[in-house]
Amino acid sequence: MYYRPDKINEALDSLSREKLTIAAGCTDLLPSTQQDNLGDNILDISGIKSLKNVDFENGFRRIGSGVTWTDIVENNNLPKCYDMLKECSLEIGSRQIQNLGTIGGNLCNASPAADGVPCLLSLDASIELLSVNGKRVLKLEDFIKGSRKTELKNNEILSAILIPKEAEIGYSSFLKLGARKYLVISIAMIACKLNLEKDIISDIAISVGSCSAVAKRIKSLENMLIGKSIKDELSTLILNFNYEEYLSPINDIRGTNSYRLKVSKVLVKNAIIKTLSKFNLED
Ligand SMILES: Cc1cc2nc3c(=O)[nH]c(=O)nc-3n(C[C@H](O)[C@H](O)[C@H](O)COP(=O)(O)OP(=O)(O)OC[C@H]3O[C@@H](n4cnc5c(N)ncnc54)[C@H](O)[C@@H]3O)c2cc1C
Repeated sequence: MYYRPDKINEALDSLSREKLTIAAGCTDLLPSTQQDNLGDNILDISGIKSLKNVDFENGFRRIGSGVTWTDIVENNNLPKCYDMLKECSLEIGSRQIQNLGTIGGNLCNASPAADGVPCLLSLDASIELLSVNGKRVLKLEDFIKGSRKTELKNNEILSAILIPKEAEIGYSSFLKLGARKYLVISIAMIACKLNLEKDIISDIAISVGSCSAVAKRIKSLENMLIGKSIKDELSTLILNFNYEEYLSPINDIRGTNSYRLKVSKVLVKNAIIKTLSKFNLED
């Protein structure tokens, strides 16, 4: 069977009746089959318009799970703190992948190298899951349980990503290290969101991806930096921080664990410098 409903309720009904594989942009799904087709029992959610909206309601920015990376880049209504998500979107695969791949698919696939995850962690994201039984909202860090493991139940669709209004402050940057410039799986990536009061860091969120089974916020580092002046010697503090306590990178074909640890420190420093430079240029 191949279903392509245009209403979310129809999709949820069919999911409640039989075991179906959800297909959005298929940019993770199709390669995972290692065949030239998706097989049977597919629920294609790409025709559901309500999953493609970005709006603001009840104190939350609501990003539909079917929003593509290109949609994010082209959205001119997002505040500056979403720049990291835009910079990340522009580095996801190629233009073709950005046109098809969705933000919801990136989260549900739950790869340790999913570039969207650190950005959304730094935005304090929660995710909304719908089923015929109703709605569940989980913090993103509670939704992704491990490499390729999520809390998604068989009868649920990830409908939206919710960003609280309070998190929509400051400027942000995304940095990704790969073995080449384009079409590359991250060796490490950083999403940094930062706010200043005069020259004091009043708020900061730093998330590191590809250096543990699930991307991580490094709250101890954030707490250490809050209240510091940008005139202080921040580089030494950032580089000497004990990342080993929070990250557990793997050795693989793209890099050793010690290399990943070393580059993440430098990337964190550079992401903070890049974000600070936006205040200097634009404020
Ligand atoms: C050449 C290439 C380059 C790539 N480069 C990058 C990169 O640089 N960075 C990166 O992070 N990723 C990259 N990817 C991976 C992929 O493009 C992204 O993860 C993309 O965002 C996945 O979205 P999708 O809509 O295609 O998901 P799909 O492939 O349709 O689905 C992925 C998984 O999520 C499930 N799913 C999808 N949507 C939902 C939903 N709303 N509710 C419940 N379950 C759902 C599906 O059942 C499936 O298990 C690349 C892939 C390719 C092929």
